[in-house]
Amino acid sequence: AGEGRKRVMVLMSDTGGGHRASAEALKAGFQKLYGDKYEVDYVDIWSHYTPYPFNQIPRSYSFMVAHPALWKFNYYLQQPRWVHVSTQRAWAPFVSRQVAQAFVEFEPDLVVSVHPLMQIIPQRVLAACARERGVDPAPFATVVTDLTTCHNTWFHRGVDRCFVPTETCRSRALRMGLRPDQVVLHGLPIRPAFSDARAPQRVLRKRLGMDSQLPAVLLVGGGEGMGAIEATLEAIATACGGACQVVAICGRNKKLARRLQNRHFPGGMRVLVKGFVSNMADWMSACNVIVTKAGPGTIAEALICGLPIVLNGFIPCQEFGNVEYVVDNGYGRFERHPERIAAQLSAWFSPSGREELDAIAKRCAQAGKQFQFALFRIVEDLAAMVEAPRMRVPAASSRACCQAA
Ligand code: UDP
Repeated sequence: AGEGRKRVMVLMSDTGGGHRASAEALKAGFQKLYGDKYEVDYVDIWSHYTPYPFNQIPRSYSFMVAHPALWKFNYYLQQPRWVHVSTQRAWAPFVSRQVAQAFVEFEPDLVVSVHPLMQIIPQRVLAACARERGVDPAPFATVVTDLTTCHNTWFHRGVDRCFVPTETCRSRALRMGLRPDQVVLHGLPIRPAFSDARAPQRVLRKRLGMDSQLPAVLLVGGGEGMGAIEATLEAIATACGGACQVVAICGRNKKLARRLQNRHFPGGMRVLVKGFVSNMADWMSACNVIVTKAGPGTIAEALICGLPIVLNGFIPCQEFGNVEYVVDNGYGRFERHPERIAAQLSAWFSPSGREELDAIAKRCAQAGKQFQFALFRIVEDLAAMVEAPRMRVPAASSRACCQAA
């Protein structure tokens, strides 16, 4: 660490792509607003600072969401506060020593959690470490990265601040017993590339190797490349053939990317296959429609780019509300069937469908404004927490909550 620099420790995990994207956004946001004044590090506490089998929790996420019944059971089982608090309390004796080691190594001046399973134990350990050293614990903030139906584990009453992205999440936080002054509504933290000015579509397309004229569909499945990407590609190729182009982003799903790269699609459709891309803002700005699962980060990013959205799936429970959010607000459609998705795209790309598509794009861009600069508002507030400890929850009530955890 640089001399005199304040340290911000972001707790994240690679369950999906959203938590990492939010952690990266916060790091980039601090850098953009304050240069080198803060050192921001993100760490997956569960993977790297807990013993077996706890370090397998992030890995088990992919398995669980692939088995919806199991995922739903676990999700609802852990919803009541008394269940998730007592579960994590039971885990605490097995993981606390290593979690404490993380805090010793990072020496944070501020801890920010962007993950629903990283409030109760980390905050408890942080408070215990500080008590041992006879100092005040570093302030602790949660940044909620779900958009609508978020799990109750996000809302721990002991945190100093809980940043939420939407009014729906704010109401949930208050229902879970957080005080109004603890809950701050700014929006989702989206990476600064989405708030920067971008080159015109024509220039982007040339740079990205896309056709300059054909309507373009961006096909993604979150950070993990989930969903029926291949079947959707086939259906679009059958319905639209040479009348459109598709960019298929497979995220960390390397197997899928390899398979698609070796495939030929009906009608000679132009298909660009990509693995995990780090310039999502460019790809979104270069396309006309996105087909994606209902990931919160992807939805907010698409709105910022004024990109109409076709949702083709959602992770049960936590992404369910995102479907209503998109459909009810007129930002796009929900359609699971590859053939019906293809029919919708083909209709939008026909001369009579263009007007509707443009109207949706306008609504998206309008809604995207609330997310475009949310990152910087969050980062400003976080920096204020480092600089002005008086903003914090009074120590007494914070301690009471830690004990309650
Ligand atoms: N993402 C990315 N590159 C990729 C695939 C995904 O940067 O190749 C980003 C995407 O832009 C979004 C995040 O990963 O910010 C996915 O988050 P989301 O909340 O949509 O879904 P999750 O993967 O967390 O379920």
